[in-house]
Amino acid sequence: MRALTHSRFPLRTELFPFATFPIQDGLLPGESGPGYVLRMASKNHVGYYELLRHIDLYPYPYLTIDATTKIAPLFGVMSKNIMRVTAENYKIYGQCHTKLNGLIFKKPYLIRQRSPQVCHLCLKENSYAQLAWDLTLYTACIAHKISLIDHCPSCNKPLSWARNDLSLCKCGKPLFSDSVKSIPASESQLLVSKVISHKFAGDIPCSISNTFLFQLFDSLSLDIFMRLVWSFGLHDQSKFSRRTQGKQIPCTNSTIELINHSISRINYALNHNFSSPLEIDINQTSLNDVLNDANYVEFKKIHHLLDKVSELDKLPRILDSNSSKQLSLFE
Ligand SMILES: [Zn+2]
Ligand SMILES: [Zn+2]
Repeated sequence: MRALTHSRFPLRTELFPFATFPIQDGLLPGESGPGYVLRMASKNHVGYYELLRHIDLYPYPYLTIDATTKIAPLFGVMSKNIMRVTAENYKIYGQCHTKLNGLIFKKPYLIRQRSPQVCHLCLKENSYAQLAWDLTLYTACIAHKISLIDHCPSCNKPLSWARNDLSLCKCGKPLFSDSVKSIPASESQLLVSKVISHKFAGDIPCSISNTFLFQLFDSLSLDIFMRLVWSFGLHDQSKFSRRTQGKQIPCTNSTIELINHSISRINYALNHNFSSPLEIDINQTSLNDVLNDANYVEFKKIHHLLDKVSELDKLPRILDSNSSKQLSLFE
């Protein structure tokens, strides 16, 4: 056997004749698929683009499901296990769907596949990327009660998966240091993150002190919950509609603005006890879309909220849709 220099492992360029990489590890609980690939690449001292070249894939600056399922076995994880924690896009009747963690998301803007965000304190403590960070509306770390970041604190450029270490930006500067300030998360952000954690991971108890909100959110699927929050938050319609039509993901700061606006409006409507409906200008196209995809129970719960809001004449009425939703069960 050839003598090795400096390390008990072969030099990086000598690795490539081997079927797998020397340092192996499994997926951690709650770890993101692309995050796993970056964690293991840096443990094996292989750069991002070097890795893609090694498996002969086009060097996109983000990891597709093709890439992670080809790469993961090199580090010791079976393709089917990495598939679950990597966003998979497909179309049904021309409509984009994304599958992640066994759940279906019907709008591309709900998943941040190409533009990662991180909690820099979690990265510092645990050195792995959490799967929940890949959800657009998950903007607050529940453990540290701070906002996630999607920009480098040093060069201010958007974070990319094409970096050589989870804790470093492409510019080479660390994502955490004593000079990086943490921004406290709002109550609304934390509430949305808690509901997402509960519905996404399944095993985390959801503690929401607001009973009305809890009853509403508890009955919704994760897809419908996030789209309802999204619809109520669209106050600057032109800004967001242009982005979502182009399938671009809004930056974390814009999403935080949307969440704060949305939760305060939902809360206000739920606690409204006056005889006249509230005047809230809601994006009807977006809300209509949510109602069309809601099941019967979700539809009823959302309408309980909408009944308190005026300007909603064009939405499907609960009586009309009751019968059609029941009928559709037997089609
Ligand atoms: Zn954290
Ligand atoms: Zn940077």
